[in-house]
Amino acid sequence: MRINKYIASCGVASRRKAEELINDGRVKLNGNIVYELSTQVDEKNDIVEIDGSIIKQEEKMVYILLNKPDGYITTVKDQFDRPSVLDLLDGISERVYPVGRLDYETSGLLILTNDGELTYKLTHPSHEVEKVYLARVRGIFTKEEIERFKKGLHIEDYVTAPAKIKIAREDIEKNVSICKITIHEGRNRQVRKMCDAVNHKVLNLKRIQMGKINIKGVEMGSYRHLTEDEVKYLK
Ligand code: URA
Repeated sequence: MRINKYIASCGVASRRKAEELINDGRVKLNGNIVYELSTQVDEKNDIVEIDGSIIKQEEKMVYILLNKPDGYITTVKDQFDRPSVLDLLDGISERVYPVGRLDYETSGLLILTNDGELTYKLTHPSHEVEKVYLARVRGIFTKEEIERFKKGLHIEDYVTAPAKIKIAREDIEKNVSICKITIHEGRNRQVRKMCDAVNHKVLNLKRIQMGKINIKGVEMGSYRHLTEDEVKYLK
């Protein structure tokens, strides 16, 4: 974009004032004084200075709630070239990234944002926002297994914080249960590992809620922006 427009988009001066600054020799592009008002700026790579101070574009904060389908990674890229959740965001020009991770084969609620502070807060172990998962698992839970879930399970080298588990449906013939599992932590493959620890393989896993934010109404593979109230609540 033209340099006066770029300066204005940084919130430093109006476009007209920016032209004055250029004419006064106070603007540098990549270390060189700008003489031409028609100079173009590459917003991502160029460095613009006014009176020796680097200026940057004000980034609009974006908060997205995506209903992730299974078969997508939550990193930008991986060695197998599998599709990324970022491929599902059509028309979002800001550089957003997922808050935490969902496994490749897990579906459901994923928040994406360019707000680093919020990401830090939500992924910090001390953050208590509860995450609710709907899991289809092999087998029928016994009372003892449910109790173990509630007390905390020994996984690898740690014990999980107490979790809630509510059995929604049991199909004894098919030997399958559907349950709602609520955890406060976000360790790698935690729900799968917790179920494994009581010998129930997870067949299907979907995150349906984070705190009071719910996936309801968002189609699989679609997204919506969080409301102002939702953002305030998460912060
Ligand atoms: N627990 C898991 O096992 N997988 C996820 O993707 C999220 C939580």
